[in-house]
Amino acid sequence: MERDIYTDDHEQYRETVREFLAREVVPHHARWEADRWIDRAVFAEAAKHGVYGLQIPEAYGGAGEPDYRFRMVAAEEIAKAHALSFALTVSLQDDLVLHYLLDLTTEEQRRRWLPGFVTGELIGALAMTEPGTGSDLQGIATHARRDGEDWILNGQKTFISSGIMADLVVVAARTDPDAGSKGFSLFVVERDMPGFTRGRKLDKIGLPAQDTAELFFTDVRIPAGNLLGTEGRGLQHLMSHLPRERLGIAVKAIANCRAVFEETRRYCFERKAFGQSIGDFQHVRFELAEMATEIDVAQAYVDRSVLAFNAGTLSAVDAAKGKWYVSELQNRVMDRCVQLHGGYGYMAEYPVARAFVDTRIQTIYGGTTAIMKEIIGRDLAR
Ligand SMILES: Cc1cc2nc3c(=O)[nH]c(=O)nc-3n(C[C@H](O)[C@H](O)[C@H](O)COP(=O)(O)OP(=O)(O)OC[C@H]3O[C@@H](n4cnc5c(N)ncnc54)[C@H](O)[C@@H]3O)c2cc1C
Repeated sequence: MERDIYTDDHEQYRETVREFLAREVVPHHARWEADRWIDRAVFAEAAKHGVYGLQIPEAYGGAGEPDYRFRMVAAEEIAKAHALSFALTVSLQDDLVLHYLLDLTTEEQRRRWLPGFVTGELIGALAMTEPGTGSDLQGIATHARRDGEDWILNGQKTFISSGIMADLVVVAARTDPDAGSKGFSLFVVERDMPGFTRGRKLDKIGLPAQDTAELFFTDVRIPAGNLLGTEGRGLQHLMSHLPRERLGIAVKAIANCRAVFEETRRYCFERKAFGQSIGDFQHVRFELAEMATEIDVAQAYVDRSVLAFNAGTLSAVDAAKGKWYVSELQNRVMDRCVQLHGGYGYMAEYPVARAFVDTRIQTIYGGTTAIMKEIIGRDLAR
């Protein structure tokens, strides 16, 4: 189905992103996957070319472009380049870390951190999950206590995307054990703070180039100036920022569905069996027809969500609907596309095979499918 969401400006931006990816990412992505590490320098280049961070205001050196459609264009082009590890680091900056740093910071904090994101020198991470708690954020055990003007942070986080690479980590910690959901705060922990150490770079089944790590905090002294947002409102800050993360996951998911589906469609009309292209078998055509339909229907929801986000009206419930539905669709599409490739679909050299494992996480991080349904169900029961 024709989409009418973009203007000429978005299409011009698409060309810039496409050229950037062809030059700076595609030739290197396989090596990054083998090395289990993305060259840091590419993020500086990406930031300079506006592949991420466009929303940083001009006062801090950025482009001041809040239109999420640009972010969607970048996600589509990165998906077509099958650079999924790179995609996650970029969306981690745009959809999570920068979103917090733009919304919750004081002027002094903005001047300190935002210019580093404009040049791509600073990479950020967001640390909520702990070994003992993921879905249930109220179970966070990492804690900070006041010491004069400073805070002393202790605890442990796990599964943190870009945890090894990050220069700044937004950490959720309990600051008042007696205040229930009002007893959490967010802190920015910086690379060289004594007592902040990185644990293992975790060995995942997919997204090999994207580092995912354990982080440890032992008596880390956090200056008062590194408290993010309001003391005691950490959980509320997380809740209010999760819709953008979830929109980002749905956007990546639908972009990846389209890219892998298109490769699969082409493959089906090239591959021959029993004297004809496999795409000429009714079963295969029906598989393609069902996927094309589901992708178009889901795309319409995502496009509408993006416009709602731009207008400031995307609700947490609507973002949760998009997150679970489109990421589950993505799992189904990847599985069917592997099947249609036959044995080649199981070969790591084929993008479809890599996408199959790289995207499996999409229904888990950013809130699992079950948690999304809880959010929607609670709203329905109100
Ligand atoms: C590659 C990767 C990157 C990640 N990046 C980050 C990151 O950058 N920052 C960060 O903070 N975290 C990150 N995470 C963590 C991720 O967000 C959590 O793994 C996820 O939220 C699930 O938490 P959990 O692993 O503790 O699972 P659990 O919460 O233990 O859930 C286990 C199962 O129980 C189900 N379940 C739990 N509660 C309910 C309920 N109320 N009703 C029904 N079912 C329920 C879940 O749906 C799931 O199926 C990442 C994880 C991975 C694997």
